[in-house]
Amino acid sequence: MNDHVANGETMAPTQRDRGVRLRGGAAVPLLLLLLLLPLLAAPGHAEARQRPIELHTPRQVERGVPFKVHLWPAEDVEALSTALVRANGDEVTASGGYLTRVMRDVPVWVSLLGVPSTLAPGDYRLQVGVTYSDGGTQTFERDIEVTPRDFASMRIALNQAMSDLRETADPRRVQQAREMIALVARYNDSAIYNEGSFIVPVEDARISAGFGDRRVFDYADGAEAQSIHFGIDLAAPTGTPVFASGAGRVAFAADRIITGYTVVIEHLPGVFGLYYHLDRLDVQQGDLVRRGQQIGTVGMTGLATGPHLHWEFRVGGVPVDPAAFVGGPLVDKGLIFRRIGTTKAAETERG
Ligand SMILES: [Zn+2]
Repeated sequence: MNDHVANGETMAPTQRDRGVRLRGGAAVPLLLLLLLLPLLAAPGHAEARQRPIELHTPRQVERGVPFKVHLWPAEDVEALSTALVRANGDEVTASGGYLTRVMRDVPVWVSLLGVPSTLAPGDYRLQVGVTYSDGGTQTFERDIEVTPRDFASMRIALNQAMSDLRETADPRRVQQAREMIALVARYNDSAIYNEGSFIVPVEDARISAGFGDRRVFDYADGAEAQSIHFGIDLAAPTGTPVFASGAGRVAFAADRIITGYTVVIEHLPGVFGLYYHLDRLDVQQGDLVRRGQQIGTVGMTGLATGPHLHWEFRVGGVPVDPAAFVGGPLVDKGLIFRRIGTTKAAETERG
């Protein structure tokens, strides 16, 4: 993802004294200011805010990754909603927001959107809705470019048993799929467990399938079916420990027809980690787990051709690349502090 600092921009809310709040403040010629005003924010909130809201998002995002929106100062913000929409206004995906706990002294709101790996590259719009504690609302819009990303393609031959598993119209399987979709679509804005980086859940594993792989399954009866691989497969011997890649609450821990022994961990509002084909479950639904806590062992339960962990992340129900969660925190404290420093310096200059 792009550098948020370079992409950050002050967005002024609708208010009488908006001119002096803009970056550059009184130096901006009035005429230019009047021309720009409609572009900056849609009206909807009449009361003057103490400080303008700053909205930080990347301008570009690769398909198949989480998209981060940071908003501050947010002393009087009560709710945040975001949506990625097509040029014609159709919604691609939407999310809520939560108040991060990483920034103790500065209220910062965060929203995470899952950009589907199937989304056509091109121009989209980000819509951000802010509700203030006095009931006022405000809407921001941004142009967002979704950039291309190629995924691997492969054919996978399935034996009779595997073919039967996928082809048989088993009502229990359909029901399990529905329940999982509903589970990972939940948004609980107090479910804030892991705001730092995440770890790879199996040590010394070999990646046997990548995120977003385009697959064609060849069934034993000659039929074929296309599918997209929504996670990363980590191949390791049966019995190898599987660790929670981040802290969270176990939202699901049970056997499923296709995914075998399965654990789902709610890591953040709308963000779920999924662990499939386990040989053994070491946690129960409702448990709170630490990052790195063992949750089970590698196996090949369900539809699996060899022992491996299928590791998946969902953001707002959308599968995104787990690799995007490893190596850096989702909420970049350094970025926020640098931006706040910049804002304070600008205020001193004006003052
Ligand atoms: Zn897999």
